[in-house]
Amino acid sequence: MVPQAKVLPHVPYRQALKNFLEGNAAYYRQPSIHYLEPFRIFGNLYYVGDKRVCCHLVDTGAGLILFDSGYPQATHMLIDSIWRLGFDPADIRYIIHSHGHFDHFGGSNEMKAIYGCELLMSEADTASLREDPRRALIGWGPKPNDAIAWPDRELRDGEILELGNTKIKCVLTPGHTVGVMTFFFDVTDGETVHRVGYMGGAGFFTIYREHCRDFGLPENLCLRLGQSIQKVWDEPVDITLGNHPSQNCTLEKRRWMLEHPGENPFVDPNGWHAFLRALEEKRREFETLGY
Ligand SMILES: [Zn+2]
Ligand SMILES: [Zn+2]
Repeated sequence: MVPQAKVLPHVPYRQALKNFLEGNAAYYRQPSIHYLEPFRIFGNLYYVGDKRVCCHLVDTGAGLILFDSGYPQATHMLIDSIWRLGFDPADIRYIIHSHGHFDHFGGSNEMKAIYGCELLMSEADTASLREDPRRALIGWGPKPNDAIAWPDRELRDGEILELGNTKIKCVLTPGHTVGVMTFFFDVTDGETVHRVGYMGGAGFFTIYREHCRDFGLPENLCLRLGQSIQKVWDEPVDITLGNHPSQNCTLEKRRWMLEHPGENPFVDPNGWHAFLRALEEKRREFETLGY
C-alpha cells in the first residue's frame, strides 16, 4: 500500500542550511521542473501545488479557499492549475497561510493584487514577523519578489472560519514556527463526507537551536512541537494533508490514484496517526541528537 508519512534522516544544521539553499536555488532557476498536473483529492478538495510545495483549493459553493500560495516564482503554475481544474481564481475569497514562510505565501501578494482575495495568517506568526521579518526566510528568499504577504485578517487559536458549506477549525500548533496553524474541516462528495486534517508545518529546519539563535526565536520550539502533536492527536481525520508533498507522500498517493482507478489512498482513517507518530519519532530523535 502507499506510505502515509515519510521520515528523512537528520543532519547537522550547517548541512541542512546548505541543502535548503541549494534546493531553493534549483527551484528558482526553473520552477517548471516541479510542475504537477492539478487534481481532485476528494470531493470539493483539490491539489494545485507543485512537486515541492503544496497548495490546496476548497470549493465551498460560495467561493474558493486557497491554502498557501507557494514560491513567488511559481505563481504562474498556481494560476494555471486553478483554471485547469475549471475554477476562476477571481472566485478565491481567502488565502489561508499555514505559517509565515515565503515558500507558503510567495504568490499571495500577486494573487491579492489581481483577484482581490483576502489574506489570512495566524496572529502568532504575524506578530513574530513584525518583530523580525527575517524570520519569513526573506534573506534566503528570491529578489525582487520577496515581500511578506501581510495578512488582512489574523487567525486565533480555536477560531472557526466559515465560508459556504465549509467550516474550518484553526488550531495553533507551534513548532516549525511559533504560529503554525493546523486546520480541520469536512469535504464532501455526494453523500460521502470526510474530515481533513492539515498540519501546517512539519519541517525541522527552523527548529535547530542555531537557527533559533540566529533569528531570535525561542529555543524550545522542538518541545513545543511535541506539545502541538499531542494537542491535535485526538482529532478525527480521514484525509491527512501536509504542506510539502514529501511529508504526507502526496506524490506517491497521486501516482497510486492514476495507476489504480477507483482507489483513493488520500482517504485513510489511519493516516493521521501514522503521520503524527512519524513526526513525533523524528522529533524525539532530533531532541536526542541535541540539535
Ligand atoms: Zn516553513
Ligand atoms: Zn515550507
